[in-house]
Amino acid sequence: EGITVGELANRMAEKGADLVKALFKMGTPVTINDVIDQDTAELLVEEFGHRIQRVSESDVEIDTTADVDAEDTLKPRPPVVTIMGHVDHGKTSLLDALRGTDVVAGESGGITQHIGAYQVKTKGGDVITFLDTPGHEAFSEMRARGANVTDIVVLVVAADDGLMPQTIEAINHTKAAGVPMIVAINKVDKPEANPQRIRERLLEHEVVVEDMGGDTQDVEVSALKKTGLDDLIDKILLQAELLELRANPDRDAEGTVIEAQLDKGRGAVATILVRRGTLKVGDIFVVGEQSGKVRAMVNDKGQNVKTAGPSTPVEVLGLSGVPMAGDPLSVVENEARAREVATYRHELATRKRTTSAPTSFEHLFSALNTQQIEYPIVVKADVQGSVEAIVGALNRASTDEIKVRVLQSGVGAITESDVTLAAASRAPLIGFNVRPNPKARALATRDKVSLRYYDVIYNLIEEVKNEMSGQLAPER
Ligand code: GDP
Repeated sequence: EGITVGELANRMAEKGADLVKALFKMGTPVTINDVIDQDTAELLVEEFGHRIQRVSESDVEIDTTADVDAEDTLKPRPPVVTIMGHVDHGKTSLLDALRGTDVVAGESGGITQHIGAYQVKTKGGDVITFLDTPGHEAFSEMRARGANVTDIVVLVVAADDGLMPQTIEAINHTKAAGVPMIVAINKVDKPEANPQRIRERLLEHEVVVEDMGGDTQDVEVSALKKTGLDDLIDKILLQAELLELRANPDRDAEGTVIEAQLDKGRGAVATILVRRGTLKVGDIFVVGEQSGKVRAMVNDKGQNVKTAGPSTPVEVLGLSGVPMAGDPLSVVENEARAREVATYRHELATRKRTTSAPTSFEHLFSALNTQQIEYPIVVKADVQGSVEAIVGALNRASTDEIKVRVLQSGVGAITESDVTLAAASRAPLIGFNVRPNPKARALATRDKVSLRYYDVIYNLIEEVKNEMSGQLAPER
């Protein structure tokens, strides 16, 4: 008893190629016409954040049909934006400055609440959601947990400082996620600011801004003097328009945990970013391995609200326990069902923790489509010459069927950024004459990232080549 990948994709309203890609990542190379078993289908449905319904204690039914939102139910939703960039380039200042442009804040008289995300209403009446935790590590950690909540990345680069290591990491993390980027060249108020040099340096990292004939939008801003903010907002809205972001607001809500904690007076609270549907006070829900009933909701202006629609962040009270950032929330019919699904999710998570961890190269393949397979990899080495030699050799190892994609490479110890990126993309992480720092090592263990150490380039390349050729699915 099974289902073809194509049929499942249809029912989930996902692209067949995306399912094939996810299956490759889980170590199951298939084509669109292959039949997969119920267990695998469940894992896949869960992986895509869809709902699984448990019809009885022992019988689990995948409620995939309920997940298809008809075309005519879809309404435009606000974009969700994450700000990234090197330390001290002005991420926090820019988040504050953008928050200050909200036209509602003044009227409402509400006190700004830091709930992990906030919304800005523009002069033109459009709404933008900003995630309050800047940086690529939080971004990739969410992604590693299967939560791709960010629609657009704003990369902040200080015009007086230029491209720094974390700028480049942010570019790599954004590219690996396939999220469009807007470059905000900050601190242009400074006399030594040189925005043009930034645009030129970006070329080296294959970020080509419009002035240079590319399609990445850029904008000069000063978070301090609050200049260029309207321009940045316009560019975010333009990018959002291109993405045609839509969701059905008239259905049971689904969302993602942005942050969560145990509050002394209020118990377990979580900020939920609603993805689709409308979350209402009184709704019964399951969130990660927890369940609950919405007792109250507080928005980013500190106001109690009764409902929250797509792309809206709200702090939710009434949880049974503290979920994790990146956990999915789904509204369900009743409390018994909520507890059942929570228990079921707990079992699934336990199963996943013990089975689907990428412990070897075998699990690390992703397919762009059924023809072209990508082999993602992260490389760190002790000296620049080795980095270049390794990246060059890896690129030459690509074949017609499988393409090596170096997500990030650099000189120095293996850092947390390397690990989060590898985890999010399920890529192996190569250390050539280098080791991870203690924090990165702990993170790699937790996220079960495949760490490989080499001291001979030839061995490294041969091993990668062997893994690649061994992984190509035989002709069917
Ligand atoms: P983050 O580490 O990226 O979050 O950077 P911050 O927002 O904390 O800013 C770092 C420093 O740069 C602070 O001292 C800010 O006051 C300063 N700064 C941020 N934006 C600007 C700007 O547009 N112009 C100038 N002159 N200074 C800025």
